[in-house]
Amino acid sequence: MPEQPRVELVCPAGTLPALHAAVDNGADAVYLGLRDGLNARNFPGLNFSLADARRGIEYAHERHARVFVALNVYPQPNRWPAATAAVDAAAGAGADAVILADPGLLAYAAERHPGLNRHLSVQASASNWRALEFYQQRFGVRRAVLPRVLSLAQVRRVIERVSMEIEVFGFGSLCIMVEGRCALSAHVTGESPNTHGVCSPAHAVRWQERPTGRQARLSGVLIDEFAPHEPAGYPTLCKGRFEALGALMHALEEPASLSVLELLPQLLAAGVSAIKVEGRQRSPAYVAQVTRALRVALDSCRRDPGNYRPPAACGAALERLAEGRTHTLGAYNRPWQ
Ligand code: SF4
Repeated sequence: MPEQPRVELVCPAGTLPALHAAVDNGADAVYLGLRDGLNARNFPGLNFSLADARRGIEYAHERHARVFVALNVYPQPNRWPAATAAVDAAAGAGADAVILADPGLLAYAAERHPGLNRHLSVQASASNWRALEFYQQRFGVRRAVLPRVLSLAQVRRVIERVSMEIEVFGFGSLCIMVEGRCALSAHVTGESPNTHGVCSPAHAVRWQERPTGRQARLSGVLIDEFAPHEPAGYPTLCKGRFEALGALMHALEEPASLSVLELLPQLLAAGVSAIKVEGRQRSPAYVAQVTRALRVALDSCRRDPGNYRPPAACGAALERLAEGRTHTLGAYNRPWQ
């Protein structure tokens, strides 16, 4: 069987060390956000100053990797000048693409920086070929990141009908609200992830040590309690434990990571252009390990897709890093579609 065309491995970078970790471990491209509150990982201590973004882009380019700048919130009117300035800054820093969701910003980028690739963010929630073609025709979008709500068969059918590159998520946390259209956290914190770029704003999060364990609260609402020594992740409302139907449980969403390790041959055959790793909030060590595992698996699949088996070491490495130490195929696995 001839070798498949190269599929890009796109990895997250919340900091310069994470960018180095991704590039050094085989990422073909890295995505990052500027420190301006205009991307969907608006966490304290995360994201790049413009000087660091320039350094990161230089580092990546010297090693033949690309850098995409995520600018994927929907800016409110008072943030419009900052948002357009961020597009200009990304272009000036030599980014290979901007990842955008807001139609106004897409129009601005297309008019002001026609030579800068525009990728449609997953935050745009474009889930069907007509929506994707609209963005392509209207704004010259070169690539779209599909929401994690499509089955494998639906991904395949979308790719058959569109003329743009398609990027799909391959590993990391999931969101049950069609990619950030979150009534949950917006209801409790008053801030939508789509406008403020964060599910649980730092000012709303409170940790309290109790004799029974560590409690996590969001705007005063108890969303989880972790037993002593139980690992406590970033507290999101959707993955909290609540009393429902007489039992204490993850009533909305189990913490589990999406992992497409076993689906790589089908995704490559479907014609995806890139596999994306979620997690700009993750440590450089996490980014290094996930990137290395997926690099090995992708290369193995490309060499011989017919005989591909998920490499055991890659599976074990990803399982250790998965949320709740367990993984899921998410919406990809809907054989009835
Ligand atoms: S809180 Fe959960 S459902 Fe809401 S945007 Fe964040 S990940 Fe998605």
